[in-house]
Amino acid sequence: MFSMGLFIGLLLIITAGFFVSAVLLFSIESFRENEARAGWILLSAVFILLALYMLVFFSGNIPALWIFAISPWLIMILLFWPAGSNREGDKGPDPRGQIDERDIMFSRRLLKEGSRRYRKYYSQNPEKKESDDRSRAKPGLLSPRSQYYHPLQFAAANASFTAVEALVPAIDKPATAEKVKIEAAALSTFLKGWARKLGALDLGITLLKTEHLYSYRGREHNYGKKVDKRHKYAIAFTVEMDKEMIDRAPLGPAVMESAGRYMHAGSVAVQIAAFIRELGYDATAHIDGHYELVAPLVARDAGLGEIGRMGLLITAKEGPRVRIGVVTTSMEMKEDTVKRDLSVTEFCDICKKCANNCPAAAIPSGEQKMINGIKRWQINQEKCYDYWCIAGTDCGRCIAVCPYSHPDNYLHRLVRLGVRRSALFRKIAVPLDDFFYAKKPISRKPLKWMNP
Ligand code: SF4
Ligand code: SF4
Repeated sequence: MFSMGLFIGLLLIITAGFFVSAVLLFSIESFRENEARAGWILLSAVFILLALYMLVFFSGNIPALWIFAISPWLIMILLFWPAGSNREGDKGPDPRGQIDERDIMFSRRLLKEGSRRYRKYYSQNPEKKESDDRSRAKPGLLSPRSQYYHPLQFAAANASFTAVEALVPAIDKPATAEKVKIEAAALSTFLKGWARKLGALDLGITLLKTEHLYSYRGREHNYGKKVDKRHKYAIAFTVEMDKEMIDRAPLGPAVMESAGRYMHAGSVAVQIAAFIRELGYDATAHIDGHYELVAPLVARDAGLGEIGRMGLLITAKEGPRVRIGVVTTSMEMKEDTVKRDLSVTEFCDICKKCANNCPAAAIPSGEQKMINGIKRWQINQEKCYDYWCIAGTDCGRCIAVCPYSHPDNYLHRLVRLGVRRSALFRKIAVPLDDFFYAKKPISRKPLKWMNP
């Protein structure tokens, strides 16, 4: 006879076996990720769970057996139940108006004191002069006088930025062949597959809107040039930044990685642009320092992610730990159908980890505000850039601490699934992230090969 006691005993063994194995696997995965703190916590949990289940099993107490056999499953159902969320919304409103590239800090920083551009810009924007002059007096990005100067790391980052510049002659050229007719859907599928082979994570296609484009260019020889909408489509893609390098932010490895991935994104972009020209159509690659558009906005509309509290694109797999490349063209493409994932901004509402860890206090910790027709957070670009000019790197601490930056493996995919589905899960995910990975970034040992 199959008794109730035997049944509940078996159920308890199955439950214990499943959950203890899962926690053990999570612990092993955490050690593999070099997250020793999370690994040890989870390993301790394995022993605590084992002890607890053995205690309950040998106690023979039927109500306790039922509670320990059933409650873990109920908790899982509760946590992953799709509730309390408007997690998928429509694309939402477009921003009103365009950004003038001359207003962004990279352009302002390049203005030479006393030059005609300098005089003109600050006669039109006198409120920005004092803080910009202060910023210019700081050592600057990759300067030997900066706080985190490291001759090898900074030379490596500079080398990648130099390599990006070498791509510039290839970014904007006329078509090189007669037009070939390709079915739009087939072309989109081919592009997505090929981009992955070139090392991109994800690729999306959207209609190019005027609001995506800068109103005027703000760099070097293009300074003051009006940006015309020349193309119908924008192809946006992401490349991953290495976690081990970004975890060292704001030290040199972060800027090495950032520069290296700008180069990677640039090389993919010029190849896609050249490919489209081979098919007989104009195409422009938008690469670091030579964007005619606001890349995170285009990537968001192409379905690659959402803009988070820190103002960067948060992708589904690697969070903000990506760089974006864009190619624009008028060749007919199949636009991607985009459903926005509002769980990202709902999670940002609770999280604030980037704001709490920003060394420049540049990220707002309050609610989203209505800016140019859309609700969003806006970072203080002056404070952020000032910090870069002191540190000498492009910082990246906000990227390093973001819970979405964890690697794309089964452990974090499970967490992201919960975050997407359930408001309750989002609430507990933040304190759990603090518990496993600490509220403040853990100081990491320098990488041996960088400091031989
Ligand atoms: S890059 Fe650094 S300074 Fe800038 S917003 Fe992020 S954490 Fe703050
Ligand atoms: S750290 Fe938190 S608040 Fe900041 S962008 Fe990432 S999820 Fe959003």
